[in-house]
Amino acid sequence: MTLALRCLAVVVFLLLTPSSSAAATDPVGRWPLRPTPVVERTFDPPDSPYGAGHRGVDLLGRPGQPVLSALPGTVRFAGALAGRGVVVVGHADGTRTTYEPVAASVSVGEVVTAGARLGTLEAAPSHCLPRACLHWGWIDGETYLDPLRLVGAGPVRLLPLWRDLPVSSGRPIAPIPASWRPAENGYALLLRVAGLT
Ligand SMILES: [Zn+2]
Repeated sequence: MTLALRCLAVVVFLLLTPSSSAAATDPVGRWPLRPTPVVERTFDPPDSPYGAGHRGVDLLGRPGQPVLSALPGTVRFAGALAGRGVVVVGHADGTRTTYEPVAASVSVGEVVTAGARLGTLEAAPSHCLPRACLHWGWIDGETYLDPLRLVGAGPVRLLPLWRDLPVSSGRPIAPIPASWRPAENGYALLLRVAGLT
């Protein structure tokens, strides 16, 4: 194996390594809309409990579309909250998934399976006006998590090396220049991905 190939193998290993142990133990859930929806807005956790951010993801949908539970659990809340229909499902690991705006068809205490219908998507109030979208959240205690982790679409991803590089270690990585050639720059890329340069 040439040096360049060995370097690439290490790079792929580094990119595949999750950035936190939690990612390795995330439960495997389902998208709450079918077919797989477009993610209109991604997760942007606030710096403080009252700080700005986006405490979930927005999934494009259509009014009246069924909204499904991402994980099995028990309905903890179903009704109006601050002027919008909200469903909250509690899960065995203590986390909760939230869905809004939803016209609920379930009741508090109801046990649901993954993929079970919780209600239907409402047109408003929507984070995507004038389009309809589901704001989907995942909360552990008081901490907001990225719900896309439940469907394997979270921030830890292996992207093609010739496109934007993923951020596997929490620090930004410069994109690979178009002129990059493994035989010439493989070792430099390895050092950069490993955070050594
Ligand atoms: Zn939102």
